[in-house]
Amino acid sequence: MPPEKLQWKELYAEVVTSGLCTGCAGCVVACPHDVLGYKDTDDVYKPFHLEEELGPDNCIHGERGCTSCTRACPRFRAWEPEIDQFLFGRPRTADEVEGITKDVILTRAADDKVHELGQDGGLVSAILIWALEHGYIDAALVSYLEGDGSTWKAIPGVARTKEQILEAAGSRYTYCSNPMAYAEAIEGGAEKIALVGMSCQSSVPPVMTARKAGKVARKFALNIGLLCSKTFEDAIFEELFEAKYGLKKQDMKKMNIKGVFQIWMKNGDYHEVPLKECHAWTREGCKMCPDFAAEHADISTGGIGKYNDWTLTIVRTDLGREIIIKMLEDGSIIGRPGDDDPGAIELMRKLSKKSRKRWPEFAIPEPKLIEA
Ligand SMILES: Cc1cc2nc3c(=O)[nH]c(=O)nc-3n(C[C@H](O)[C@H](O)[C@H](O)COP(=O)(O)OP(=O)(O)OC[C@H]3O[C@@H](n4cnc5c(N)ncnc54)[C@H](O)[C@@H]3O)c2cc1C
Ligand code: SF4
Ligand code: SF4
Repeated sequence: MPPEKLQWKELYAEVVTSGLCTGCAGCVVACPHDVLGYKDTDDVYKPFHLEEELGPDNCIHGERGCTSCTRACPRFRAWEPEIDQFLFGRPRTADEVEGITKDVILTRAADDKVHELGQDGGLVSAILIWALEHGYIDAALVSYLEGDGSTWKAIPGVARTKEQILEAAGSRYTYCSNPMAYAEAIEGGAEKIALVGMSCQSSVPPVMTARKAGKVARKFALNIGLLCSKTFEDAIFEELFEAKYGLKKQDMKKMNIKGVFQIWMKNGDYHEVPLKECHAWTREGCKMCPDFAAEHADISTGGIGKYNDWTLTIVRTDLGREIIIKMLEDGSIIGRPGDDDPGAIELMRKLSKKSRKRWPEFAIPEPKLIEA
């Protein structure tokens, strides 16, 4: 970060209102004065300033020298090279479109129940359960469905037990800012927190640490990313699935995206909606996002490839490698080489390139696709 005092005023102008803001809520969580709110209704997923003194675009604490929000934002100024340098000791090369990796393998939970409840191989849930049981973490920030699940509104929450982890398993394709559950985890006494988050969110813990955003960063002990090309507006349920196909969200059981939007209904019916039809409901915050492969997580996970019930697993840091090796050794997960499905790795690179093309000209050049 440059020596000048960069605060909400700069964040508001350069990220919140420029199209770069993903809604990850890093700034909200990091604010030591609690003057940032977060709107997650009406398909707006954005931070806003709560104090009226200087209006919505400036902050009195920022004027007095507070810089926490810009330090915690994984889209502010040179975020990508700064985090790469901090996590890996170097920026990524032009060829590393999916970010810097150590190993790419396929994994699945050994426990049948975890595997069955997981979206793909149940790896994410298996890691959280294992990390809780082995003292790596004491809480995880995950995503639940509100109420009895019939509204399909994804909400951030804290998991402290195996049961809670399994309750949160599976994927919802609308946005859910899991970092927002940080305060609840701290109130519950958490000291070592795992974040499960979309690619944009998994850059939050390392950017906070790299830029010394304050004590929030110190409590993040594990960072698991979900590969992501976009999330959809909540309105897609009524405006497309129900209006065109007569599929009511309260009757839906599970969904997945494998080339098409797959929907399983509670009565056993199965439907496919072409992805082309869904694109009009792409969430605003995803339209300029360059990160498909959760490039700054300890372990990034995805569901692409020919093996539907395995998780494509990208190990990025020493911590990520330590956990995956120990879990393979004690039989908590089953692994196979990434080479078993070269098409999955090829597709990950192709989708990473596609996301990088979205990064706008007005921002720093590094996240853009530079052909090797
Ligand atoms: C919105 C979204 C888009 C995705 N897009 C792709 C893609 O394009 N290509 C690809 O290969 N993989 C994608 N994934 C990742 C994939 O769906 C699986 O999450 C991943 O493979 C891990 O599977 P698993 O069985 O190991 O995880 P599980 O054990 O099922 O755990 C999944 C974890 O994700 C959390 N979660 C679920 N929904 C959300 C949400 N909306 N926001 C934040 N956290 C959530 C859950 O709380 C749970 O902890 C996407 C996931 C999501 C949520
Ligand atoms: S990208 Fe995240 S940290 Fe940056 S302004 Fe938006 S919500 Fe805040
Ligand atoms: S595409 Fe995925 S990672 Fe990027 S902003 Fe949207 S939700 Fe976040």
